[in-house]
Amino acid sequence: MDCVFCGIINGEIPSNKVYEDDLVLAFRDINPEAPVHILVVPKTHVSSCDSIDADNSFLISKIFEMIPQIAKKEGLSNGYRVITNVGEDGGQSVKHLHFHILGGKKLPVHLC
Ligand code: 5GP
Ligand code: ZN
Repeated sequence: MDCVFCGIINGEIPSNKVYEDDLVLAFRDINPEAPVHILVVPKTHVSSCDSIDADNSFLISKIFEMIPQIAKKEGLSNGYRVITNVGEDGGQSVKHLHFHILGGKKLPVHLC
């Protein structure tokens, strides 16, 4: 499978990691759209939010357990945004489930 985030997870592609455990990896986005822009991914390949089910939802639980801790470590005490894009209409460019953490400035209110 040709997946850039699987490549980052298995170390074939370098990344700037900010958090890692047995289930979850977080690293800085290569093309940041805010002063803090981190991607949080499950270490096993899940294509998108559309593929979350009863068998893998524990990964989402773990990701959302870690997001506030990552945000705190990054100093995002005044708030931040968590986004996941799904499929073509959602603008998903990497087909490995990921949650963007964006912060470090007042973000625009428009979601679309
Ligand atoms: P999407 O558009 O799929 O929601 O977000 C994919 C994100 O992955 C984009 O913000 C893009 O900048 C980031 N990205 C794509 N390739 C790489 C890479 O090789 N390394 C890192 N750190 N980020 C990447
Ligand atoms: Zn993958």
